[in-house]
Amino acid sequence: MPPESLRCKECKTTYPLDARYVCERCFGPLEVAYASRADTDPDELRRRIQAGPHSIWRYADFLPLSAPPRGTLPAGWTPLLRADRLAERLGLREVWVKNDAANPTHSFKDRVVAVALARARELGFQTIACASTGNLANAVAAHAAAAGLESYVFIPSDLEEQKILATGVYGTHLVAVRGNYDDVNRLCTELSGEHEWAFVNINMRPYYAEGSKTLSFEIAEQLGFEIPDRIVCPIASGSLFTKLARGFEEWIDEGLLSGELPTMNGAQAAGCSPVATAFESGHDVCRPVKPDTIAKSLAIGNPADGPYALELARRTGGAIDSVSDDELRQGIRLLAETTGIFTETAGGVTIAVLAKLAERGDIDPAERVVAVITGEGLKTLDCVRGTFETWEIDASVASFDQAAAGVAVAA
Ligand SMILES: *Cc1c(COP(=O)(O)O)cnc(C)c1O
Ligand SMILES: [Zn+2]
Repeated sequence: MPPESLRCKECKTTYPLDARYVCERCFGPLEVAYASRADTDPDELRRRIQAGPHSIWRYADFLPLSAPPRGTLPAGWTPLLRADRLAERLGLREVWVKNDAANPTHSFKDRVVAVALARARELGFQTIACASTGNLANAVAAHAAAAGLESYVFIPSDLEEQKILATGVYGTHLVAVRGNYDDVNRLCTELSGEHEWAFVNINMRPYYAEGSKTLSFEIAEQLGFEIPDRIVCPIASGSLFTKLARGFEEWIDEGLLSGELPTMNGAQAAGCSPVATAFESGHDVCRPVKPDTIAKSLAIGNPADGPYALELARRTGGAIDSVSDDELRQGIRLLAETTGIFTETAGGVTIAVLAKLAERGDIDPAERVVAVITGEGLKTLDCVRGTFETWEIDASVASFDQAAAGVAVAA
């Protein structure tokens, strides 16, 4: 399925496959269009995938590159785990957790950065940059280091310290902007006009977005080339959410999968929920908000793909819900206690929305549900402080017995 052009999502005008992201005619967003490959035998295609490397490059046939790159950090091929104890707690039968914290920089952003950076190198860029809510900063700095390229990473200055440290360590130019993500993004849009840099989520955005499809390819392959009934996935700009569906659609078109799209459920934090709010009020566009939530990785007040996310949720019979910061903390604890997976705030949002859907009776117990866990708990450690107890004792058996007895009495 060779990439053919960039194409406007709105008016369908086509452009060459270079570093651009907005339609000159209607200002609509551009995406990658592929030449049709109706003559390829699905069995042959499946065999080629299965013979590929254990990384996103096994899906290179579906990515906007001339050739898979070499010597990169191996993004993707993360575990899909059946979570029976989580399902039981929620009164559901079949819940799976796609753990994308198991990527080189511990979030799904390694997928999108790997693809954008590979395309940037094909186009001859020497410098990589991004506007980040946190995880993208980690991924751009690391993948640029692996490729030996210079990088500039722009973040809101109030980002979690763990994410700042886990970015600076790679030797990037780290720029903390006094403002929120939407301010950072506006600045970077201006800078992308001034410098010959590949901003992975601005002028390289069409390629970046394609990387997210590998998450649905993996889910389908790990389920034995089947489509789950429902996906629950967090929404920041809405790129991941919409591209997950696109991945399943492409494989249905290629004859690799049969059936319909999963019911698509989006998850946002109440303190930054422009898409959930528009969904609830029946609107087709999102009204920008000023973020105020501990889920900083999802704190985009003006989501670029909001309208497409709304359309997708409605078309598949899904929804977009929001949860409070307290609920997301409980979501983190619930996932950790039932699966051994410690996720960051975005994963807490996802699990809390899953719990809300189950409680509301929106999920038929017979459904196969996949929750997409997009990031690692160690990067947002502060948010679980105070959610559990520690016994502090002297180094003596008597002191331990005393603490244990205290608990026994209390219980
Ligand atoms: C970036 C990010 C997302 C989703 O981002 P989109 O802009 O909606 O594609 C989800 N979870 C985490 C942890 C992220 O870092
Ligand atoms: Zn257009």
